[in-house]
Amino acid sequence: MLQNNIYLPYSIGVIISYIRSNIEIRNNYDINILYVKESIEMIDSKVKSPKYFFISVYMWNFQYSMNVAKFVKTKYPDCKIVLGGHHVPYFDIDFFNEYPYIDILVHGEGEATCEKILLGNSLCSINNLSFQEAGKTTRTNKEYNNCALDNIPSPYLTGVFDTILEDGHNFTASLETNRGCPFGCHYCDWGSTLTSQKKMRRFNKERVYKEIEWFGKNKIDFVFGTDSNFGIFKTDMDIVDKLIETKQKYGFPNKFRVCYTKNSDNFVFDINRKLNEFGLSKGATLSFQSLNDKTMFAVGRKNMSLKTFKRLLDKYNDCNIPTYTELILGLPEETFDSFADGICELLNMGQHTSIVVYNCQVYPNAHINTPEYRRKYGLKTIKIPMFPTHTTIESAMNIDEEEIIIGTNKMTTPEWIETCMFSWCVQTMHCLGLCQVIAKYLHEKHNIKYKDFYLKILYYAKNNPRSYLGAEYLKVRNKYINIIEGNGFKYINKPFGELNWTFEEGSFLTFILDEDRFYNDIYYAVSDLADVLILANLFKINKFLLKTPRPFKILPINKVIKNILDFLNIENNGVDTNLMCGLDCDESLMDYAINKVWYGRKGNSMLYAKNEIRSKWYGIS
Ligand code: SF4
Repeated sequence: MLQNNIYLPYSIGVIISYIRSNIEIRNNYDINILYVKESIEMIDSKVKSPKYFFISVYMWNFQYSMNVAKFVKTKYPDCKIVLGGHHVPYFDIDFFNEYPYIDILVHGEGEATCEKILLGNSLCSINNLSFQEAGKTTRTNKEYNNCALDNIPSPYLTGVFDTILEDGHNFTASLETNRGCPFGCHYCDWGSTLTSQKKMRRFNKERVYKEIEWFGKNKIDFVFGTDSNFGIFKTDMDIVDKLIETKQKYGFPNKFRVCYTKNSDNFVFDINRKLNEFGLSKGATLSFQSLNDKTMFAVGRKNMSLKTFKRLLDKYNDCNIPTYTELILGLPEETFDSFADGICELLNMGQHTSIVVYNCQVYPNAHINTPEYRRKYGLKTIKIPMFPTHTTIESAMNIDEEEIIIGTNKMTTPEWIETCMFSWCVQTMHCLGLCQVIAKYLHEKHNIKYKDFYLKILYYAKNNPRSYLGAEYLKVRNKYINIIEGNGFKYINKPFGELNWTFEEGSFLTFILDEDRFYNDIYYAVSDLADVLILANLFKINKFLLKTPRPFKILPINKVIKNILDFLNIENNGVDTNLMCGLDCDESLMDYAINKVWYGRKGNSMLYAKNEIRSKWYGIS
């Protein structure tokens, strides 16, 4: 079932809908789409003497696509292989030497350029190309926005995907309501001056509404908005209304996810409140990337103030709308301390459940990939196999690579590993709930800084490698050492199936397999932070509130526990009652991992909330 979720191939679909609108092309070409990573044998069975072979590439399919291109070119030497998409480098003089089976590179938006290629125009006369002829590389003029959006028919509405729909996958659709981004974050290839203009262009709203209607009629469960800054236009609320209306009419789409405009504000909050009310929301992003001013300056981005963040976070929490906050590890000017202080500042502000830390990837057309930028900030990078999380990765098709930053002139590679370990510790122990109650209480009541609390745990783990906690610490640290030696992010936890987990999720699952040993180690790690009675009861509460696969749990109440629960604002009926909570006991370990840790993690707590806890009188079994 998990393998069956597939995106409709929008980027190639929108080019097909455009070129098919040209009668000459329609009359002279049969156009077929390949959209699933399949074996070369399968590709061979589907490709018959093509004149052109167009490929849209990004990091998740680049290497695979190169293998397919090489195969097609070898078998059909006269076929022209044309490469487009974000991963096509603007400047790479060695590209055609490295990939000699590629004939043409299309830079920027591809619709009008591909049309001209198919019409047989001389390549020199077509803007936005690089091509190889007689061993010589030619780069034609750059032209932004060479096609009016109103001239591009919708692939959904013109039937491009009709036959694909019959293949019976669970399809996700992309909704593109505009193109461009007015910002210029240097790690991103979207806002890069190399690839796009700052001006945003919009598709007409009637087309967008009809596409949403198409999603409803075709039972598309999940729609991903491709806009760079949803909520930047006031009319984006009309799109939200149309999504809601369509869901009410057809029952689909079920969920909508999009990147919200930088520095989220009240309007984005209103959008999310509405989406949440009708069950369409996948959570709101309150992004930071980094809380270090020097880093933000170096990447050309400005954050909202912490005061605004806190105000918005409280607003979302009051309405029970999940939020998540993203950070990027490996950005220039960041140090161990600045990153650790930043992540703990988010905890101070009340973001306890959903902090997502990404590794800084280097895209071919992002500003951080220019030689000057790399030199200026001393970027040290490594190319590693790209193992997607939450999929089974033992597949011959998983051959793509990502390039990530593992050091800068402010953070050595060993420091990068230590920073990753701190981030792992906070995400595993705090955000996933293992120690959240303990850390919060000690922070609020005893003034223990989050950073000190989690450093203590790391210190204990590092110095007790034979303990349960220490063994896991060592395992994850070795995984990071493997990464700087060129291996990918891989964590398979066998009792929970064959899926690949993020390191923090993988470790969380390991820890809950033997909670008693885990909490024993944590107790030793932090035992000098409060008196024994308080700590012992805090541990009982945290263990009780954690959503583990156990069918149900009981927490006997005593005066200390009652005081702590009162302080944490978790009500109970008095000292004479026990508290009880539990999960569906029919759930397998794998279902638990998928439903609670994967699906449930973003925006939701791994801890039972007040309304999930029941009172249980003594004496009643
Ligand atoms: S990260 Fe977002 S806001 Fe920044 S340039 Fe990229 S698309 Fe634009």
